[in-house]
Amino acid sequence: MLMEERLHDLQEKIAQAALRAGRDPGEITLCAATKTQSDDTIRAAIAAGLRVCGENRVQELCAHLEADAYAGAQQVHFIGHLQTNKVNKVVGRVELIHSVDSLHLLQAIDKQAAKLGIVQDILLQVNIGGEESKGGVAPEGLEALANEACAMEHVRLRGLMAIPPVAHEPGANTHYFVKMRQLFVDMRTKIAHNESSMDCLSMGMSGDYEDAIAQGATLVRVGTAVFGPRPAAGQV
Ligand SMILES: *Cc1c(COP(=O)(O)O)cnc(C)c1O
Repeated sequence: MLMEERLHDLQEKIAQAALRAGRDPGEITLCAATKTQSDDTIRAAIAAGLRVCGENRVQELCAHLEADAYAGAQQVHFIGHLQTNKVNKVVGRVELIHSVDSLHLLQAIDKQAAKLGIVQDILLQVNIGGEESKGGVAPEGLEALANEACAMEHVRLRGLMAIPPVAHEPGANTHYFVKMRQLFVDMRTKIAHNESSMDCLSMGMSGDYEDAIAQGATLVRVGTAVFGPRPAAGQV
């Protein structure tokens, strides 16, 4: 299948999943995970209607920005693990950073955004599967980190993100998505002064985006289902 067909097919499946859940398809944003893809592949996806690109690695983000590969996209997001010493390459260059999971990182982002005189939109990543290999704050630590984020002048907390364990069968991650939705609703209630801007629940990938949408995802991060299988060397 051509990428253009895959993209349209995916957008249709996202819309159908939303309708099945009684939701408006317009509530759900597709963020294409562009890791390992070339400038030309990204350009082709944007020409085919892709609006939001999600980068995993700082180095790839910089290279694609340099090459102007995102021209015509509405937004670029950073979705991968971010090291504190690299925030200056990301803050102010992407609309949303999905992967904030420590106070240290939060402070570094706030500081860099202050330097640029901007407010950086962020999500807090939650390690919902409790996996040692994955980033994310533990659910028990979320409220404290959210409060810190809300107290910062140059950071705007927009919601939550999660990467649950790899699902080997349909529905396997539903309970994680349910938990994430509860954490999201909880956080919006507890941090009421910021509720209107807390509108993003980033969860669901190629294997489970329909389940994630059924449980309330407002943004799905999809790579393989847009671009086809990634070369092995580039896998995360
Ligand atoms: C690669 C990646 C995705 C998409 O993965 P697919 O299974 O290819 O859809 C989503 N989120 C993050 C953070 C990723 O690194």
